[in-house]
Amino acid sequence: MEDIMLISLTPAFDPVLLDGMLRFQTLAYILAALLFILALAGLSRQKTAQRGNTLGIIGMALALIATVVVAVAQSEVTAAVTVGLMIVAIAIGACIGVWKALRVKMTGMPELVAMLHSFVGAAAVLVGFNSFLMDPGNGTYDNAFHMGEVGLAVFIGAVTLTGSIVAYLKLSAKMSGKPLTLPGRNIINLIMVIVSILLIAWFVNTLGVDAGLLPLVLLTIVSLVLGAHLVLAIGGGDMPVVVSMLNSYSGWAAAMAGFTLGNDLLIITGALVGSSGAYLSWIMCQGMNRSFVSVILGGFGGDSSTPAGGSSGAVSGDYTEVTPEEVAEQLKSAKRVVIAPGYGMAVAQAQYPVADLTRKLIDRGVDVKFAIHPVAGRMPGHMNVLLAEAKVPYDNVYEMDEVNDDFGDVDVVLVVGANDTVNPSAETDPGSPIAGMPVMRVWDAGTVVVSKRSMGNAGYAGVQNPLFFNENTEMLLGDAKDSVDAIIAAL
Ligand code: NDP
Repeated sequence: MEDIMLISLTPAFDPVLLDGMLRFQTLAYILAALLFILALAGLSRQKTAQRGNTLGIIGMALALIATVVVAVAQSEVTAAVTVGLMIVAIAIGACIGVWKALRVKMTGMPELVAMLHSFVGAAAVLVGFNSFLMDPGNGTYDNAFHMGEVGLAVFIGAVTLTGSIVAYLKLSAKMSGKPLTLPGRNIINLIMVIVSILLIAWFVNTLGVDAGLLPLVLLTIVSLVLGAHLVLAIGGGDMPVVVSMLNSYSGWAAAMAGFTLGNDLLIITGALVGSSGAYLSWIMCQGMNRSFVSVILGGFGGDSSTPAGGSSGAVSGDYTEVTPEEVAEQLKSAKRVVIAPGYGMAVAQAQYPVADLTRKLIDRGVDVKFAIHPVAGRMPGHMNVLLAEAKVPYDNVYEMDEVNDDFGDVDVVLVVGANDTVNPSAETDPGSPIAGMPVMRVWDAGTVVVSKRSMGNAGYAGVQNPLFFNENTEMLLGDAKDSVDAIIAAL
């Protein structure tokens, strides 16, 4: 019996081969880390994005191969059992991933991303618990570090888990997008953070599984509540920042899991995701004129508590309707045209006819530019992705800041399914939920044509848009794809 135990617990490879494999893993991890950095650099520009993606895929494949090879070599059971277990785990994950990816619409990407972030959070919590059960507190200096890492991994992982679930529910409209503004919510958050720190300190000083389990479970519960409360307090137009902020949290959760597992590549990858997510949140906060600290702390001291869809949005009046044929005439005689796409373009999948229309106008000698607002659509870069997919030349795509002062020189602006991002009340109504958010000043143009389905529906922030009732605004009512197709036909 003892012999059998010994045989089954012997590593699958001899020590020399194992040593070689560990060296291979170190080398592969360094290469993968470099490839991830190059991938990020590539992704920062549209022209190099595809190359960046390829480098990222190669890096990930390399990291996966190195991890699997060493896991098999180090395993205490036979190689077949280890590989079998890994295949089962990967198959379950892949089935769920493929099923979700096949069903998701482009407009549902932010929810999917939020849900995936919750998985990273859950993984960090599970890895933390596993690491603790394998190596509980024993009073040594080294072990204290390990326990601290476990505590932090569980804390960040649990905050990410529930924060992402709430973001998913809000973005998929399964829960109201309005911010929850409990009295003294900032104090509640602060108390939960302090309690979490004290629980980690208690946890680090425990000996054995029995003593450590209580503070760890309490820490998990407090962190879960904190994560949910942080995101519940954010709402309306600030949700884009939440998505990128949770992206950042998930990176830090992965990095902490890397510490508990002693996996350098996971630490590097987590730190890359964490810092790039934080940087993106910062850029988006600038784009929306929000305080970064205010948003990451769940609206701390900020004005994001103004409920979306507040009464300030009630605007009504006469509006002018226009037909696709009339729009075609205006576009034909225009010298400069700017297209301002928004979420509605994604819903209607109108990027293809929009790209077609652009080509036709350019062929006629019209100067056509796209103006992209930093939070147009439902995820960072949403419009850029759609336009790239429809092969709109990069040179015609401009960021909001590059064109915002030039709308006065534009003959026709075609707003395709954008609403909040072209809402003048952000500049004129301090009580509006989007007050202070920089918007595209399309109303400065000669004529503004707005494509949307009806006059009844507001944009994401739930406020009506006074732009629609301006004298130089014409409403092209109907599905954006049908409307743009009809303009092309009339051209
Ligand atoms: P909005 O969400 O403000 O407005 C969308 C517009 O599209 C509406 O006017 C809607 O009107 C119209 N629309 C919807 N479907 C169609 C269709 N099939 N055909 C034509 N029109 C259609 O869009 P914006 O892009 O201007 O603003 C983005 C908003 O989303 C901002 O408030 C931003 O803060 C928020 N947000 C952004 C995220 C990001 O990362 N970018 C993430 C989360 C939120 P109608 O229904 O009448 O057709």
